[in-house]
Amino acid sequence: MKRALLNIDYTNDFIATNGALTCGEAGQKIEAAVVAITRTFIENGVDIIYAIDVHDEGDAYHPETKLFPPHNLRNTNGRLLYGQLQEVYEESRDELNVHWLDKTRYSAFAGTTLGIMLRARGIEEVYLVGVCTDICILHTAVDLYNLGYRIVIVKDAVASFNQMGHEWALAHFEHTLGATIL
Ligand code: ZN
Repeated sequence: MKRALLNIDYTNDFIATNGALTCGEAGQKIEAAVVAITRTFIENGVDIIYAIDVHDEGDAYHPETKLFPPHNLRNTNGRLLYGQLQEVYEESRDELNVHWLDKTRYSAFAGTTLGIMLRARGIEEVYLVGVCTDICILHTAVDLYNLGYRIVIVKDAVASFNQMGHEWALAHFEHTLGATIL
């Protein structure tokens, strides 16, 4: 079965201690696991898609403007990948199996070409890593489920600022979306 890895929102704003909307320690703890699976999959020729939030400051038409402080603003340091993942990306960004996908909503499918990318490559199974378990990972997983993809959640490579939400989402992935939890 052809696999892809969706690497979601592992950026400075979501992970660094001084990030604008940070998961803090919970997010920092998964760095080694996120980096390890990303490296392994790149080396094995699996398609890696960095699905990364992008916003414009004060966007009056964006629903998140009222909900969250400004984060992942275009062309800022906050939008770079966190820690070693940024190095992995810089080393491998020219590989044909490494892709960058700007997203503006929780789900990586909303308003993006993700569906076309997965279909074109014959992907049937999608691995999810990154943050937040109960927001962007969750909304993306729901869309994968509705579109008939097999879902694999790498438990040690997802995190949230909300521990209860994180645990609820892991149970939801497994019992409601039929995901494999690794
Ligand atoms: Zn956002």
